[in-house]
Amino acid sequence: MASHIREPIISVLGHVDHGKTSILDYIRSSVIASREAGGITQHIGATDIPFDVIERICGGAVSQDKITIPIRGLLFVDTPGHEAFSNLRKRGGSVADLAILVIDINEGPKPQTLESMQILKQYGTPFVIAANKIDRISGWMDKKDPKNQNPDTLRDYNNKLYKLIGDLGMMGYDCDTFDNINDFSKTVAVVPVSAITGQGIKELMMMLIGLAQTYLKDGLKVSIDEPAKGTILEVKESRGLGTTLDAIIYDGVIRVNDSIVVAARQPIVTKVKALLRPMALDEMRDPRKRFTSSDEIVAACGIKIVANDLENALSGGPVYVGGKELVETVKREIGEVEFNREHSGVIVKADTLGSLEALIKILENEGITVKKGSMGKVSKQDIIEACAVSNESRYEGVVMAFNAPILQDAQTLAKDCQIPILSSNIVYRILEDYQQWVKTSKEQDRKELVKCVATPARLMVMPDHIFRQSKPAIVGVKVEAGTLHAGCRLMGEDARICGRLKAIQSGGKSVEKAESGEEVAISVEDAVVGRHFDAQDLLYTFISEMEMQRLANEDMSEQERQVLLEIKRVKKKK
Ligand code: GDP
Repeated sequence: MASHIREPIISVLGHVDHGKTSILDYIRSSVIASREAGGITQHIGATDIPFDVIERICGGAVSQDKITIPIRGLLFVDTPGHEAFSNLRKRGGSVADLAILVIDINEGPKPQTLESMQILKQYGTPFVIAANKIDRISGWMDKKDPKNQNPDTLRDYNNKLYKLIGDLGMMGYDCDTFDNINDFSKTVAVVPVSAITGQGIKELMMMLIGLAQTYLKDGLKVSIDEPAKGTILEVKESRGLGTTLDAIIYDGVIRVNDSIVVAARQPIVTKVKALLRPMALDEMRDPRKRFTSSDEIVAACGIKIVANDLENALSGGPVYVGGKELVETVKREIGEVEFNREHSGVIVKADTLGSLEALIKILENEGITVKKGSMGKVSKQDIIEACAVSNESRYEGVVMAFNAPILQDAQTLAKDCQIPILSSNIVYRILEDYQQWVKTSKEQDRKELVKCVATPARLMVMPDHIFRQSKPAIVGVKVEAGTLHAGCRLMGEDARICGRLKAIQSGGKSVEKAESGEEVAISVEDAVVGRHFDAQDLLYTFISEMEMQRLANEDMSEQERQVLLEIKRVKKKK
């Protein structure tokens, strides 16, 4: 197998407006400035910085003979943000080898900073932190290093930098300024930069090269004659070309006329019609001719794939060179992210395969079980399923929607069934909202319980009135004596508790209580008909010792007093 060391693929993440795009723009413009125009390989969705350009940008601080593994260059993914990052997925990890996490030094970590860090941690992607916008520090002189700024500015700069490092430390990340670090595998490097003046960008590049040396070693060796593997960044309508795929190829080779298998609910087998890259600006004499085509592309590379039948392709899914034999592999791979399992758990919706996977990973890491993960809009079916979950496991009966629109009828049904839809474009917020919802619901339930009055009652499970065996058990009963209140616990004639009475229905309506002589339907949580009680069994309300004392001081009918005595006897027998 012929192989070469490909460029590390780098993704930029961080909170909105902290300067992700500006840093990428600065890097892109320095590539253009330091290269003979035309000599640049253009990519779709990515910018390649060849090693000689990095050498030039870094001014001799980095050179090929100082590093142990040869690196051809760095490939920056053009679209920043964690959504783009999560679409750079491949089985068992991320296509991005390294990342830059951008934090505005004047603002410090924000929700999307946290979220980006969580996602990077999930995927085990090494990253460096760019503490951006140092030029905004009051009194900053653009042409001078931090240490040569006037004393007040320097003090302010140091305070902000160490506050940032402290804040990150509180969040569990061991960080330090890049020039203070001995072991890059233990400490995350913070590089102060300005995307406007370019200060620190050189050091940022050096850190990336350093990280590649520390972490990537053999990981970058790819074959140049094996069938290509890639990930779909975007499924795009392109003028005159129909639906096309913007993809990053991270391994192997892809050629025109190759058969490819493309991620879709029903994987697509099709043939590559063309492989396109953008035309270099200076070559673009005819504005209609935006692309240049290649017969063959070797990893790592960002390209546009033109082929038939791509309409249903999934961003964040794989594209492999190969034929029908790969359909099952691709199906399985998608099935690992999109699933509907038997057990209970929350329902998760997301816009792309990549973000769905990232969200599920974060939830599972927090100990939250996911029943169903699927792409697309929140539908009525999702609410029905969450409702069924809610009956079995109240605190899992929710729908989480990440960047996924909610259909009107789903919204209405959710309201009727009291199923919360937690919707946001920030994973972290969905998680927080969920934890908050669980907390308030539990508090509410506890209050309801305290409110409920345990009054003595004896009831009989009516024959032929078993409506549901369990989760919750629903049966028809006749209240033989006393008064039954929703919320109380029930016990059998052996004094064993057989569940909590969740709700009482009479004539199809929910009621709070049922009096002696009434026939009603009850739902009992945690009870299984046939195990805890059966048709024709007698049941009693369970009255604790404390409640007995309270009842002793209350007015009760003679019949209630009799039942209370019976209950005492049953409990004593045990
Ligand atoms: P993104 O949302 O993270 O991609 O942020 P942008 O790159 O769009 O930047 C948001 C705003 O901050 C823009 O107005 C930029 O011009 C500005 N900005 C970004 N980086 C810097 C910087 O280093 N210094 C200054 N002064 N402004 C910056």
